[in-house]
Amino acid sequence: MFSSLIQDQSKYSCFRGEVKHVCVDLIKTDQKKGIFNNDIKSEQIKMIHKSTIDKRTFKSVTLSNSLLCLLISDPETEKSAAALNVDVGSLEDPVDRMGLAHFCEHMLFMGTDKYPKENEYQQYISKNAGSTNAFTSELNTNFFFSVGNQALEGALDRFAQFFISPLFSDSCTEREMKAVDSEYNMNLQNDFWRKFQLFHNASLPGSQYNKFMIGNLKTLQFEDTRARLQEFHKRYYSSNVMKLVIYGSQPIETLEGWAQTYFEGIQNKNLAPPSYNVMPFDQTNMGQLIKYVPIKNQDHLELIYIIDYLYPHYRSCPGKYLSHLIGHEGENSLLSLLIKEDLAQELSAGPSNTMKLFSEMTIRIKLTQKGLQQYQKVIQYVQEYIELLKQKGPQEWIFKEISAIKKLEFDFLEKGDPFNYVCTLASRMQQYPIEDVLRQPYLMEQYQPELIQKITNQLTGDRLMMFLSSQTFSNQLGNKEEYFGTEYSQSKFLEDVTSVFKNAANNISPKLNLPPQNIYIPEHTNVLPLQNGLPLFPELVLQNEQTDLWFKQDDRFQVPKTVIQLRINTIETGYGKLAKTEAIAKIWLALLKNHVREFNYLAEMAKIDATLQLAANGLEFSISGFSDSISRFVIGMFQKIISFKPQDYQDLYESTFVKITQELENIKRSQPYQQVHSLMTVVLREGSSFETQELLDQLTNITFDDVIHFSNNFLKRCRFEWLIMGNLVKEEAIQIVQKSLDLFKAKTLRYEQVLQIRPVMLNETEICNYTYDLTEPTETNSGIVVHYQIGKPDLRTQLYNEILQTIMKTPFFSQLRTTEQLGYAVFSLLSDVRGIAGFTFLIQSNVKCPNYVQQRIRTFIKENLNKQITEMTEQDFEQFKSSVKVQLLEKDYSLIKESVRMWNEVQKHQRLFDRRVQQLNILDGIKLSEVQEYFKTHLIEKTKQFEIHAISPTHKKDQEEIKSDSLVYNSSDKFKKRHGLYPDYFYQ
Ligand SMILES: [Zn+2]
Repeated sequence: MFSSLIQDQSKYSCFRGEVKHVCVDLIKTDQKKGIFNNDIKSEQIKMIHKSTIDKRTFKSVTLSNSLLCLLISDPETEKSAAALNVDVGSLEDPVDRMGLAHFCEHMLFMGTDKYPKENEYQQYISKNAGSTNAFTSELNTNFFFSVGNQALEGALDRFAQFFISPLFSDSCTEREMKAVDSEYNMNLQNDFWRKFQLFHNASLPGSQYNKFMIGNLKTLQFEDTRARLQEFHKRYYSSNVMKLVIYGSQPIETLEGWAQTYFEGIQNKNLAPPSYNVMPFDQTNMGQLIKYVPIKNQDHLELIYIIDYLYPHYRSCPGKYLSHLIGHEGENSLLSLLIKEDLAQELSAGPSNTMKLFSEMTIRIKLTQKGLQQYQKVIQYVQEYIELLKQKGPQEWIFKEISAIKKLEFDFLEKGDPFNYVCTLASRMQQYPIEDVLRQPYLMEQYQPELIQKITNQLTGDRLMMFLSSQTFSNQLGNKEEYFGTEYSQSKFLEDVTSVFKNAANNISPKLNLPPQNIYIPEHTNVLPLQNGLPLFPELVLQNEQTDLWFKQDDRFQVPKTVIQLRINTIETGYGKLAKTEAIAKIWLALLKNHVREFNYLAEMAKIDATLQLAANGLEFSISGFSDSISRFVIGMFQKIISFKPQDYQDLYESTFVKITQELENIKRSQPYQQVHSLMTVVLREGSSFETQELLDQLTNITFDDVIHFSNNFLKRCRFEWLIMGNLVKEEAIQIVQKSLDLFKAKTLRYEQVLQIRPVMLNETEICNYTYDLTEPTETNSGIVVHYQIGKPDLRTQLYNEILQTIMKTPFFSQLRTTEQLGYAVFSLLSDVRGIAGFTFLIQSNVKCPNYVQQRIRTFIKENLNKQITEMTEQDFEQFKSSVKVQLLEKDYSLIKESVRMWNEVQKHQRLFDRRVQQLNILDGIKLSEVQEYFKTHLIEKTKQFEIHAISPTHKKDQEEIKSDSLVYNSSDKFKKRHGLYPDYFYQ
């Protein structure tokens, strides 16, 4: 259940009105080495390798200004998108202006000569059902958006101006610098960034790698920063180092015409892409141990080996081969041994490239307390495993196994969201030849054993940067990192570590070996022949006292895949009602996951994704993968679960207990806006308090016997709800269900016996405020939620909510973030607490206390938004409606996506599988006056309001000084007792 690849996070994901984490493959090309001719003309289009099931048309063209574009025509899409990647990133920051590349990325959103209004672009996009975002990494800056099809041309025009004539106006520069500073403040408590900075600082002084990427007021606030921004843009933003992707429903020729019309105006400065000559790591600074104190209470060992630059070998993938083995979690694996010896709990491994000179092979291990004390032993096992790989030599069958599954993955690759797709492709185009950009992550075709051996041989102590982090090091390490304030120490390896590397080769544990063959790689990928008259939506094909099975044979995606969703409702243990049982269940689940780990990992490698989680009143499974092996897997998985006895893992109980305690404690150290948001759904529903502290208190009373008792009873009496969709016939689905029920042998839990969880009903008479202090002394941000409860929506009022959310999203962001600069994380959301809708306004602020922010949010609603909605023209209203229409028309682009939507209907027991069709029929008739009236009622006159304030120590005093008219609760139990409850609409 953990990926073997470390997701590359070394980039900023800027919030532009919504939470979005960008994930892009960052392996870089080196065009200077001349391996690939980058000057590709459109006649080469036939060479773009695409998946066999992909019906879209792809074409690459090079514009007259040498800008390479990839055009994608998809007549089926409702959303269009575009991305532009520039071959410049934070490594080009001038040393006296750290963060400039990132700041420049922000500033391009702030108006251009042609469209000088600072919100013009964003407003246009969100009025037309779209989203925008951007990120800056060490090497690249990437801008991207999505938009309704009819608005693509207008969006491209506005977007292209970023690269032609940005304004960098004085007032915006001044204000947006604060947004960058807020972003920096937000990341101050983030351990990823803290370690990331230590790694960059450890590079040779004066090397280009030695950078601080985010920037803050200290590094950016100077008289001439605006001039420096202009200079930076002028110097690096040249069309010949940019890559553009345009995705639309229009014919390729139309897209090509727009690329020319709007993007040929970008100046070609014939720039050579940034290149690097000096290695930032050599014998003087490798072989070092850096200890540091993390914010979160968890102990990690991270080994970063500096190896040869892997990009040129992207077809033979020695990095993927090695990380597959080192990160393996099956039988004989490094992780299995570490867990058995109670030294570690998690391990991941993966290659990455953050400079075009070298690659990094990172192994990240979550340690137990014993593992921390004996970290030399952990390093020893890592090195023993590496020695084993050296001695056994590369194995062609393993290479073939990985390559076979990658090929299957690509052959049946379903479409993704255009928004993320264009962003990823534009990044990949900077790195890989155009013919391989679609398939690069799945490409593994040249087995080169000597190359694998060479890279394996480089995994040695003298190429290693090692990070060891634990809060137990607090006040012992002596140094303070300049930008993040991280306490750390740094030294060459001492004898205790160097001797490990000397001895590992002669001392390989017999418990370590290569993994077994993977029995889950599908042999058949047959797709059922298309039949006439298949039902459009899931149907109830099996129902008895204990079970509902909803089923739909796929006739749309035509891929050899199946999705199984299952919820097991239980009642016996009181789970869902009592905080103590919830705490026990957490430990039980962690032990169970360990029990199924080796079994599950093989399936995961064969692209069967299985998640198992605790739900509000039971357990939830989501399993998807190739149809050929999925039923075998499901039955095997249930057999494993039935055979699970916590007693077999008593020796891991202590460290599992610590792990759960740490995870709960770490919730208090997560971003304040995330805390208040997830707390909202806990506080606004019935039941004993499940707040973090309550669970922590309960944990201290738990014994191992409680876990055994829970395990014996948890699945004794159950009700099963299934949804099975995909490439299988009804009989096969029924068989899966019946076999599983035979295995579980549970007593019947009838529909009406399922535990009800009812949402809290707010009232109009008081504004309730749930307030707590953030305990982390260095936290400079406060988090605030202002929530307006609406009630249970019907199809029509749900549309009112969607329209209002579309209207308010951009002005909320523009006013409170861009203009008032209250913080970096600023969003408005439409929320659903067990069927009860509401509007949620969320801000994380490092500059103002919650009482101040709360007033600004309310003023925004009462004044700005009220004015906008009262004075709205019919024409504007129709545009917002058509934006909602685009969302409703948007097709599910993959089987899994469709199944999630259908599952939502099954779970809520509404089963309006054609909800969107019904809503489309209603939408046209909705009048502006109705929505105005609705807004007035629920957000101005008869409001039911609720707030959560998480107060930073820095805002404590201000918070007390600013008066608030809300009723403050410090205990959620008290709050719940004072309020009525809605019925549980999930179980009506
Ligand atoms: Zn940013």
